[in-house]
Amino acid sequence: MNPTPVIGRFAPSPTGDLHFGSLVSAVGSYLEAKIAGGQWLLRIEDIDPPREVAGSATRIINDLYRLGMVPDGPVLYQSSRLGAYQDAVKQLLDKGLAYPCACSRKDMPESGIYPGTCRGGVPRGKKPRSVRLNVAGDNCEFTDKIQGHVTDSPAGISGDFIIHRADGLFAYQLAVVVDDEFQGVTQVVRGADLLDSTSRQICLQKALGYTTPDYMHLPVALSTDGKKLGKRFQTDPVIHQDPAHAVGQALSFLGQHPPLRYSLDALWDWALKNWNSDLVPRRRAILPAQ
Ligand SMILES: [Zn+2]
Repeated sequence: MNPTPVIGRFAPSPTGDLHFGSLVSAVGSYLEAKIAGGQWLLRIEDIDPPREVAGSATRIINDLYRLGMVPDGPVLYQSSRLGAYQDAVKQLLDKGLAYPCACSRKDMPESGIYPGTCRGGVPRGKKPRSVRLNVAGDNCEFTDKIQGHVTDSPAGISGDFIIHRADGLFAYQLAVVVDDEFQGVTQVVRGADLLDSTSRQICLQKALGYTTPDYMHLPVALSTDGKKLGKRFQTDPVIHQDPAHAVGQALSFLGQHPPLRYSLDALWDWALKNWNSDLVPRRRAILPAQ
């Protein structure tokens, strides 16, 4: 019996150019898939048109090629997948695992945790606006390859959370889960800023009868005083940087010890032989960008 083939993915939102933070996720997910003899897929998460920056999807894809990361297979655009998201929402409503909610932002408590107001039905005289997943009693703990055992539960993070928004758009959490299943993704490697989304995504996978992939959340860059680095670092595009320099920086950030002054090809040859996920730090403090 053949083991399940490893499939990893990189899934940027086209809300700007590839920056150092997203480059780190691209490099980490690429190497983790390739070192296992697997495939690396690319998905553009373009389901929130108001947040999109025109042309950035194409620039991200071009940048990845320029940096030496070529996806195995065609790029999946979430904007082409709305029917699948609709079907998933319907399936959850039909099973009684999701329910319509009439609440607006002003009905939410300060904690941001939805108290379950509409779980037993939309209050009389109110109209359904969104759809929420019922997470009551769900245990969606997981063990992350870098961050360890994570016991966060959606009940303590968000409560029953929105899967279909009042503005008609599908929620990020839903689209990610439906597409990871559709693309056969077996490992999710991404930044630890998404760590607290993971238990919600696992609850959704369980409700939809999907397989849960392995998770590996890479360190997020922090300044030496422990604060998340400023906007400049987060958004500074890598488009103008020398590709070998940019990839080398990402590898160093991930705890690897790449040789200096290698060409891009030689650097990738080195990385594909020497990538060691045990060296990736849980957290990463670096000096603030000058
Ligand atoms: Zn409600």
